[in-house]
Amino acid sequence: MKVLVFVEQREKKIKASALEALSAGVALAGSPADLAAVIIGHGVEGLSAELKGYGADTVYIVDDAAFNHYNPIAYAAALEQAIKAHGASAVVGSAAPMTRDLFPRLAARLDGGILTDVTSLEASGGVVSGVKPMYAGKVLAKVALQNAAVQFVSVRPNSIKAEKKDAGAAVAKKLAVAAPTDGRIKTLEVRKGKSERPDLTEASRIVSGGRSLASADNFKILNELADVLNATVGASRAAVDAGYAGHEMQVGQTGKTVNPNLYIACGISGSIQHMAGMRTSKTIVAINTDAEAPIFKVASYGIVADLFQAVPILTQKLKQLLDH
Ligand SMILES: Cc1cc2nc3c(=O)[nH]c(=O)nc-3n(C[C@H](O)[C@H](O)[C@H](O)COP(=O)(O)OP(=O)(O)OC[C@H]3O[C@@H](n4cnc5c(N)ncnc54)[C@H](O)[C@@H]3O)c2cc1C
Repeated sequence: MKVLVFVEQREKKIKASALEALSAGVALAGSPADLAAVIIGHGVEGLSAELKGYGADTVYIVDDAAFNHYNPIAYAAALEQAIKAHGASAVVGSAAPMTRDLFPRLAARLDGGILTDVTSLEASGGVVSGVKPMYAGKVLAKVALQNAAVQFVSVRPNSIKAEKKDAGAAVAKKLAVAAPTDGRIKTLEVRKGKSERPDLTEASRIVSGGRSLASADNFKILNELADVLNATVGASRAAVDAGYAGHEMQVGQTGKTVNPNLYIACGISGSIQHMAGMRTSKTIVAINTDAEAPIFKVASYGIVADLFQAVPILTQKLKQLLDH
């Protein structure tokens, strides 16, 4: 089947999760000739070279000042043109705010269907199906699309390994797209987050803190552990609501869904809403003074201890281990 992968870039850097989406596309397309990628932005033409060997023969490039910042109307026009140019019957992307906005918009326009946030996917007889965590991760549903002219699928970051297989010439093909300029949506300002660490949704290691941190200042002990592990720092909603951590750090039902290899929950009780966002993490370590805390039910390793004692010890021991 003909598959198009939406490769998201930010500031001319391809997101790691976009390469994972490309590898997911390889699993659906029969051959590199059937698989294409599309990169939309400004000054992004050179990025196609980075996709060489990731399974796609063609990389459609939409490169114009009109696409410098994300604009749903302009980006939808560009993606639609790429879908038509490739004759794609499936479109794959990483489950992220951009695809959450773009894919339903285009699915409606093209008489398509959409599977969101799947952790694995396959195709049989031209029909795409996938596994989707539901009900706060308590159920893994197998979902399939029926009678969709174009099948849109978003893949949860860190679910599928990005693999370079040395197939896929990644030849750039420029698409001239007349971006609709009706002026309804304009980017007035871009405010960047303060953190230099990877975004939570893409991080392979996360150290998270809860209400029990008791102040923004106390998050520094989590930052120190995160520095040693090259991890990103997250927080529960209680910690965010109390002003100890920024909104962009919130993990959970009304925060971000994360899927790291390692999630260290420090002083987090493990409410259903928190677990909705982190339950699929591969290894979960919980540090909590209460041995009955629900977080221990999903933890691979549990430490019943005061985090203010346990975290600095962990940081110190890991530092020693990693220094040798
Ligand atoms: C509609 C809705 C949406 C929500 N969305 C989210 C969401 O997206 N994300 C989210 O996180 N929550 C969300 N919540 C809130 C959620 O229900 C919980 O209130 C919240 O997750 C609790 O955060 P917490 O674990 O930090 O705090 P608490 O539940 O108060 O837990 C603190 C834990 O720290 C332990 N502790 C205390 N002192 C120490 C110490 N010194 N060392 C170690 N452990 C210690 C305690 O034993 C306790 O288990 C939502 C709620 C609703 C109603």
